[in-house]
Amino acid sequence: MKVLNTIKEIRLLIRGARKNGKSIGFVPTMGYLHEGHTSLVKKAREENDLVIVSIFVNPTQFGQGEDFESYPRNLERDSKLVEDAGADIVFSPLVEEMYPSGCSTYVDTDSAITKKLCGASRRGHFRGVTTIVTKLFNIVTPDRAYFGQKDAQQIAVIEQMVRDLCIDVEIVPCPIVREEDGLAMSSRNTYLGDDERRAAIVLSKALSSAEEVIKEGERNALKVSKLIVDKISSQPLSKIDYVEIVCDKTLEAIEEIKGSILIALAVNIGRTRLIDNVRLEV
Ligand code: AMP
Repeated sequence: MKVLNTIKEIRLLIRGARKNGKSIGFVPTMGYLHEGHTSLVKKAREENDLVIVSIFVNPTQFGQGEDFESYPRNLERDSKLVEDAGADIVFSPLVEEMYPSGCSTYVDTDSAITKKLCGASRRGHFRGVTTIVTKLFNIVTPDRAYFGQKDAQQIAVIEQMVRDLCIDVEIVPCPIVREEDGLAMSSRNTYLGDDERRAAIVLSKALSSAEEVIKEGERNALKVSKLIVDKISSQPLSKIDYVEIVCDKTLEAIEEIKGSILIALAVNIGRTRLIDNVRLEV
């Protein structure tokens, strides 16, 4: 497996692969990898000739006061993990490579879906995401790109962008990978102290309870939201950012639970902001 840092190097390699008719699978990440990330790499390995993983902590998707500086980084460990998962190339550029001085073009999806859920509390976040993903797509030219359902809104925003900008790539959503106790894996879980780590399972527990009452026949979204809010609020270390039950496609809030729905939430556990969600067909 090769680790490349410059756009020039990776373009050269991709040109060669294309000449030989190879398909390209791409997994964009911010590093500090876990099994959630490697599940995407393994899926890409199954479906493509060449698998490229990018590791880049993208400054433009972090707001002021967020954790860009402190975001965990460990390229050596990450490289080993993606190599074991079957990747061929890691692309790990410096910030100056992706945003050279004078760089002044951004991709902004002016869709209602960017303003809801995480978009409401993290202003500018999705503009950073769509900008970096466009740059990476332009560099890697993937046939397929793999994203985790953990960031369900991110997938919706990227699908919209790909449609709107006629980008020739298939977006492949992949299931959420969880710890044994149900906590969705996240690089940010490393911020949690022992008490916080124990408290954090309230997110997935609340989602499971919601799923259960829906299976039992509850169709009132407000009642289900309240159940989730009450459950999470009973955990003293938690502070809810949002709990929303929305249409899976439009991310519009719904009143009656029916069709393809997404129950999404963001909760601070201590100072760590965690997200989780569940999709249901009702
Ligand atoms: P990140 O490094 O957090 O930007 O995530 C990179 C990719 O991995 C995104 O597509 C995430 O949705 C995906 N991902 C992160 N955590 C998980 C998880 N627990 N299960 C599945 N995919 C994940």
